[in-house]
Amino acid sequence: MKILYIGGGFVGACSAAVSADSGHETLVYDIDEQKVAKLNSADPHLITSCLHEEGLADLIIRGKKRLTFTTNLELVKEFALEVDAVFMCVPTPEKMGSLGETDLTYYEKAAALIAPILAEGQAKREVAKRILIVNKSTVPVKMIDYTKELFAKHGLNNFGIVSNPEFLIEGKAVEGSIRPDRVVVGAECEEDFKVMRQVYQRFYDSINVKYIEVNPYEASAAKLLANFLLFSRIVMAYDIVGRAAEIFPGLNYEKIRHILVTEPRIGSWGFYNSLYSGGSCFTKDAASLAHQMEEMGANASIVRDIIDANLLQLNRFFSRAAEAGFDWKGKTVAVLGLAFKQNTNDIRNSGAIMMVEKLLDAGVKQIQVYDPVAIPEAKKYFSIEKNPLNEKIVYAAAEAEALKGTEALIICTDWQQFKSLSTLIHNSLKVPYLIMDGRRMLVTGFEDLKNAGFTVISVGSPTLN
Ligand code: NAD
Repeated sequence: MKILYIGGGFVGACSAAVSADSGHETLVYDIDEQKVAKLNSADPHLITSCLHEEGLADLIIRGKKRLTFTTNLELVKEFALEVDAVFMCVPTPEKMGSLGETDLTYYEKAAALIAPILAEGQAKREVAKRILIVNKSTVPVKMIDYTKELFAKHGLNNFGIVSNPEFLIEGKAVEGSIRPDRVVVGAECEEDFKVMRQVYQRFYDSINVKYIEVNPYEASAAKLLANFLLFSRIVMAYDIVGRAAEIFPGLNYEKIRHILVTEPRIGSWGFYNSLYSGGSCFTKDAASLAHQMEEMGANASIVRDIIDANLLQLNRFFSRAAEAGFDWKGKTVAVLGLAFKQNTNDIRNSGAIMMVEKLLDAGVKQIQVYDPVAIPEAKKYFSIEKNPLNEKIVYAAAEAEALKGTEALIICTDWQQFKSLSTLIHNSLKVPYLIMDGRRMLVTGFEDLKNAGFTVISVGSPTLN
C-alpha cells in the first residue's frame, strides 16, 4: 500500500518506520527542513539527535527503500496519484490561554495544504479510488465531523475518515509500535475497516495484538480517557501515597509501595514518585477532556483536580527548600536531567525545565545543567534572545562538571545513571549543601548523606537534616 504521513515527529516517524517495515511504501511530509534532512540522512547519530528513541534509527535505516521523509510538495503530488491512506500526525497542543481547548491550527494548515493535492491526484487517476484520512494525532472526540468538513472544504471528495489513536510510550516508542498491546481503529463503514486491516495486516493477523474496531468517536474518546486514567494514576501515586510518606513519621515510600502494588487489584503501573508528570500529552489531553466534558454541560472537577495536583506537586517540592531555610538568591545550583523522563530528548512540559525557570525567577547566580541527551533541545528552548536571564545557564558535559562549585543540587529526571551519584556527591561536595531529589534516585543513600551533613529533600520523604 502507499501511505502518506503528515508530520514526522515522534508519532509520525515511528509509525511510518513501522509501516515501511511492514512492507508499505511510505512517504512522510514535514515542514521542518532540518528534521527531514536528519531523518533522511541514514546516519544513526543524526537521526537520534533529532528523535531520541531506542531502535528508531535502525528501523528507519532498515526501511530506507520504502521510507522517505520530505519537505518537497512535488514528491507528495506524485505520491498522491496512488496513495491509499493519509495519516495525520501533526501536533494538537492546548490552545494558549484556554482551559484545554485543542489548538487545531497545525491540523487545519496541514489539511488545507494536503486536501487539494489529494483531490488533484484523485482527478488524474484512471480508476476512481477512495482515500482514507486517518487521525493519528490525538484529537477531540467529535473531530471526525470537523475533519470531514475541512477536507471537503478544501476540495477532496470520495474519502473516508478514520480515527486511529496512537498509544506509544516515548522512550519505548519503537518497541511499542512494533509490538503494540492493541490497535484501535475507529471507522464508519466496512470498506474503510477493510483498508485499515490491510494497513495493519501484521497486527490484524497477530495473536498477541488486540485489534479493536469501533466507531471514530469511541476511538478518539478512548485515547483521551486512557491518557487521563494513566495520568491520574501517576499523580495519585505521589499526591496521595508519596505525600503520606512525607507527612507521617516512620513511613518509607518504597515499603508502602511494595505493600500496595502486590495487591493485584491495584497493580504496579504508575507507582513512580516524581516532582511532576510531564511530557507533551498527559496534561494537555486531560485538559482537553475536561474542556470537552464542560462544553457538553458536564462536571469535570476530578479531571481538573488531577491537573492541579500535578502542578501543585512541582510547586510544593520547590518550596520545601525555603521551608528548610534555604535561600536560592545568589546561589550556584546543579540541575541533573532536563528531559521530561529517562530515555528521551523530549523536553516538552518537562518538570526539569520548569525547575530551571523557577530557579531563574528566584534569583540564582548560576545553574549548571546536565542531561545525557536533551541539552541540544534545552539550548534551543533557553535561547538568550528569548530571555537574557538564560545566560545564567551553563551546560555541563557530565555530572561531575555540573556539580562543581555548587551549593545545591536538584535531580529532575530519572536517568538510571543518576542512581549512582552518591559517591561523587560524598567525594566532591562540601556541606552545608542542599540535595533535592525529585525522583528518589538517591534513596538508598539518603541516611548516609544526612549523616554526612547534607540536607536532603526528596519527594516521598520528610526533609532530612
Ligand atoms: P511532534 O511535535 O514530535 O511532531 C509533529 C510534527 O509535525 C513535527 O515534526 C512538525 O514539524 C510537523 N508539522 C507541524 N505542522 C505541519 C504541517 N502543516 N505539515 C506537515 N508537518 C507538520 O509531535 P508528536 O509527539 O509526534 O505528536 C503528534 C500527535 O500525536 C499529537 O496530536 C500528540 O498529542 C499525539 N501523540 C503523541 C504521543 C507522544 O508520546 N509524543 C503519543 C500519542 C499521541
